[in-house]
Amino acid sequence: MKVLISGGGIAGLTLAYWLHHWGHTPVVVERAPHGRLGGYGIDFFGTGYDVAARMGIADRLAEHQLPADSICYVDGEGRVTARLERRLLEKVIRGPYLALMHTTLEEALGEAVRDEVEIRYGHRVAAVGQRADGVDVTFADGGDESFDLLVGADGVHSATRGLAFGPEERFARHLGYAMACYPVPDVYGLGPRRVHYGEPGRQTVLYPTGRPGELIALFLHRTADPSVPRRSERPGALRSAFADMGWLTSRLLAEAPRDDLFMDGLTQIAMPSWHNGRIALVGDACGAMTLASAQGASMAMAGGYLLARALHQHDDHRAALRSYEARLRPAVRRRQRRARAFARSLVPETGIGLAAQSTVTRLMLRDAFTGLLRRGYGDTTSILTRV
Ligand SMILES: Cc1cc2nc3c(=O)[nH]c(=O)nc-3n(C[C@H](O)[C@H](O)[C@H](O)COP(=O)(O)OP(=O)(O)OC[C@H]3O[C@@H](n4cnc5c(N)ncnc54)[C@H](O)[C@@H]3O)c2cc1C
Repeated sequence: MKVLISGGGIAGLTLAYWLHHWGHTPVVVERAPHGRLGGYGIDFFGTGYDVAARMGIADRLAEHQLPADSICYVDGEGRVTARLERRLLEKVIRGPYLALMHTTLEEALGEAVRDEVEIRYGHRVAAVGQRADGVDVTFADGGDESFDLLVGADGVHSATRGLAFGPEERFARHLGYAMACYPVPDVYGLGPRRVHYGEPGRQTVLYPTGRPGELIALFLHRTADPSVPRRSERPGALRSAFADMGWLTSRLLAEAPRDDLFMDGLTQIAMPSWHNGRIALVGDACGAMTLASAQGASMAMAGGYLLARALHQHDDHRAALRSYEARLRPAVRRRQRRARAFARSLVPETGIGLAAQSTVTRLMLRDAFTGLLRRGYGDTTSILTRV
């Protein structure tokens, strides 16, 4: 089967790997140029780790982890008020846990398919037309080509979804937050830890990337507005949302890039169906769960693996797409539900809420509360053990 994958991120590259593994011919079109930098850190465990291990890249990932031995919560003076040791986190997760840059995972996946799969960087799909026996695609550069299947792996704002299923508003569920992040020079002597500082309705997070002298600054704030400012307006919007915030926030804001500031809302995607004829979706495109789940990358890998596996197991593409969706959708829905519940208290709105969160966090981050903490993380084990 000749399969066009739109999007060379976590889901798209995983899908490409397994399609090739099972004898199909995937072609990936990725909008971005090759070798982009930047990005953000992710917690990686459970199903994602399981798929990575099956691909033989888990050891490589483990070697390229972020330097993080704990997650610390600090007050305005930078004094630690609570600390989650990595050792306890691993106990809570009950399996391998990796702290990675998102780009590290993408690079490892890209390396895994590099010699086997055609990847066209700087390309995107402009139009699609379906026939009973194929999909006709027009690319943005004007070229036309036909495939047996088109898979949209192009993230939460998927253009494939827009072309084949309808506009984003129909499927988006805004969780009431906006986020922004960018790299900053490490002039703070942060050490190997992730640090969180909160004020009512806002949170600043800082952690090392593993690249010498570089940290990621991440900003999260409550907002009822789901729209994302234009690129040129983002630095100003961020400064006004975080004006007068304590700890290192004003120094970090002064480092905000003018042109390339990653900013987005926390948006989940929930759809009645993940496929339409010979067009299917995978990863955030159909099941985004947001950073509040800490499992989006993991489930994107699950999606890539399970979709390829279903196409391997069924001769009829309709049966394959139905089976892929039936297998994965309940797990995605559970994690989305958990993420929505967690998001309600992620950044407390009031001073009283913040004080209560701080007290509970300080008390809970101990071995004695492993069970309770585990419930907070939700389902962290691999869903593939039952495949
Ligand atoms: C700040 C932050 C923190 C997070 N923390 C975690 C965490 O701790 N743990 C976790 O598991 N997950 C986390 N996530 C979520 C995780 O990153 C996503 O769920 C995951 O990346 C989804 O993978 P994907 O391949 O579906 O989409 P993406 O990773 O978004 O990849 C989509 C790809 O498609 C490309 N693309 C977009 N449009 C087009 C187009 N029109 N044509 C061609 N290509 C296109 C993009 O350039 C990109 O390469 C976090 C996300 C953010 C933003």
